[in-house]
Order: sequence, then C-alpha cells, then structure tokens
Amino acid sequence: SHFWGNVEMGPPDVILGITEAYKKDNDPKKVNLGVGAYRDDQGKPFILPSVRKAENIIHEKGLNHEYAPIGGEASYTSAVAELAFGECSQVIQNKTNATVQTLSGTGALRLGLEFVTKHYAKNKEVWLSSPTWGNHPQICNTLGLPHKKYRYFDSKTNGFDIEGALEDICKIPKGSIILLHACAHNPTGVDPKPEEWKQLSQAIKARELFPFFDMAYQGFATGSVDNDAFALRQFADDGHQVMLAQSFAKNMGLYGERVGALTLLCGDQESAAKVMSQLKIMIRTMYSNPPLYGARLVTAILTNNELRKQWLADVKLMADRIISMRTQLRSGIEGAGNKQKWNHITDQIGMFCYTGLKPNQVARLTKEFHIYLTKDGRISVAGISSKNVNYVAEAIHKIVV
Ligand code: PMP
Repeated sequence: SHFWGNVEMGPPDVILGITEAYKKDNDPKKVNLGVGAYRDDQGKPFILPSVRKAENIIHEKGLNHEYAPIGGEASYTSAVAELAFGECSQVIQNKTNATVQTLSGTGALRLGLEFVTKHYAKNKEVWLSSPTWGNHPQICNTLGLPHKKYRYFDSKTNGFDIEGALEDICKIPKGSIILLHACAHNPTGVDPKPEEWKQLSQAIKARELFPFFDMAYQGFATGSVDNDAFALRQFADDGHQVMLAQSFAKNMGLYGERVGALTLLCGDQESAAKVMSQLKIMIRTMYSNPPLYGARLVTAILTNNELRKQWLADVKLMADRIISMRTQLRSGIEGAGNKQKWNHITDQIGMFCYTGLKPNQVARLTKEFHIYLTKDGRISVAGISSKNVNYVAEAIHKIVV
C-alpha cells in the first residue's frame, strides 16, 4: 500500500462481468448469451477437427522453441495476407503489403493505431461506427487518439442505416481514419450489402479517409472466407491503402493462442519495407517477438491443401449452426404468437444478434429467466443450442409485448 495506496479501483470489463454473474447463478435453466465465443450444440467449446490435425502434424515435427522473428515467420504472414486479400490480389502479387504477426485481433488494433499515432501525417482522428465493439474506443483512449462516431445502426429497422452513414461520412474531416468491421459487425450483426460497400468505398475515397478494417470473423458470417472478405477486397481493388487487423480467435477457435496479423497496404515495395522496419521497432519494445504455437497451427492449415479444405468445412459448420439457431429462435418467438417484428434475427449475420431489447427487458430476462446478455440487448447466438432455443424464445416472447 506504500506505493499503490492511491491507485483507484477500475471498473470491471462489462462482458467478462456477465460471465461472472452467470457462473454464480445456480438455476439449471441458466443460459449465457454474453460471451463471444463459439459453442457447439452441447454448449461446449469446439476444437476444430482441422486444428486437431494441425496439432498432431506440429507435434510430430518435433520443432524447437527458438525465438520467432520480430514480425513473425514469413510463411505465416504471407499465408494470412493471402487469405485476406485473395490469391489473385494485386497487392499480394506485387508484394506491396507490410504484414506482421500480432497478439490476435486486439494486438493488431493496438499496434495499428499506435503506428498511426507515430507515423500517420494526416488527420489523427478515428471515426467509429455507432455502435461498435467496446475495445475500439478504449484503445483510442489509451493511445490518446480522439474518436468520433458515424451513424451505422438504424434502431427503427434493426438494420444498416446507409443514408445516415453516407451523410456522416461525407462530413468527416479529410484525411481522418475510419474503422470498418470487415464482416459480422460486433455488436449489431448488421453488415452492409455488397452494393452498399461500393457506395461506402466511393464516399470514403472522396473524403480521402484512411480505412482500417477490423476482420475478426472471416468465414464466420456467411460460412465462406471469400464472401466475408468482399468489402476488404473491394476497397483494395478501388485503390484504398487499407490497414487490416486479422484474428484467428473465432474462425480457427484459437482464442487463447493469441494469433493475428496487422497488414498495411503501402503502394510500393520501398514504402512497404520502411513501414515494416518501423512496425518491428514498435514490436521490439512492446513484447520483442510473437508467440509461435498458434502461428504454426494457422500456417499448417493454410498451406496444406487437405487441411485447408477441412478447415473451410469446419468454418462453414460453425457458421451454419449459428444461422440455423437464428432461424429457430425467430420461428420460436413468432410461433409463440409474438406481435413484434423479428426478421432482423435472421437478417443479421455472424456471432451476434442485436435483438432490440431495451435495458429493462434485458434486466427481466436475467432476473426472471436466468438468461445473461449485455444491457444493449446483444446476444451471442453461439450460446443458443437446440436444447435451450425454445426456452429463450418463450422468455423473449413473454417479455416483449
Ligand atoms: N474486433 C472485434 C470486433 C471483435 O469482436 C473481436 C473479438 N471479440 C476482436 C476484434 C479481437 O479479438 P481477439 O483479440 O481475441 O482476436
């Protein structure tokens, strides 16, 4: 206490706090729809069969535990950049990207924005969708980067507010940074359609904004890694010099291995080399070099044809289960005779559904039905299974009149 007596108690993390409350609840009917991690239909964490095979391959190789290069192994960074931008991508073929391994998606966001604070010469102001993942503004705050919001979610339709978004983007100061969720928007589950992405790309071009894509769910939205990369690839084709944060937490189930990547499109190889050198300097003083194991798994999967095929099927299996739970939840609520509109449950995509439930309704769901979710009405569809879907649907029907 001599040194630390004056340290203030910080607030607990909102989402992790929900899991704590859930764990303390002894009711057998309890359901956790707070946490953003995939569960199988038994409610259990899922180890992808492709990942299991990759584990065995790596084990058999009997590799050593020497340091990885500061930016990660080149075999890893080239495989993940190609997964994001596509084999035929100009940037990949011309090698004008700078890609480093990061500590999952969060580490990529943090490193990318820290790079901006040091090296971005235009308007250092970050524009975030309203709403967005809570860690986005928090990382900006930590780095002292001002952040503002553009309209995104339309609470009247529970869908995308394309007009509001375009209107706001047209007023963003030139040269600012705009953060975009590549797919499976968190927390709303609302993604722009391909045509809308094209409009956004043009508007962002007109304001000379710097697009930073957060891609934490490639494959998780539609079940196809190529479909889910549509927006990113459209922007790259439209000539934007995007920055990209990638995570393999969700689409490979490698949450705790902390494996991700940061890519900057640099225009030419010389700029890419300079950017790479500065990224390495930042990494060196933060954690020196990245962990090996998760990156070895990802590399094994992406570079072996058979394993890659298996992985694509594994991702589709997870996405399809979520899509099927959305259908069952919606038909459960509608089948109970509820008079509100529930089309947004199946229109939205990815792990999360923004139900439109108000904070008082969320409180009742938790208190009366032992169903745990965030105050904003977001549910993790991955927490729903064939065993609890009817219970959750009934509870929502009873609460929303
Ligand atoms: N961005 C978004 C929008 C997310 O939802 C997540 C996962 N919750 C992440 C980034 C990164 O997570 P991780 O650091 O575990 O890869």
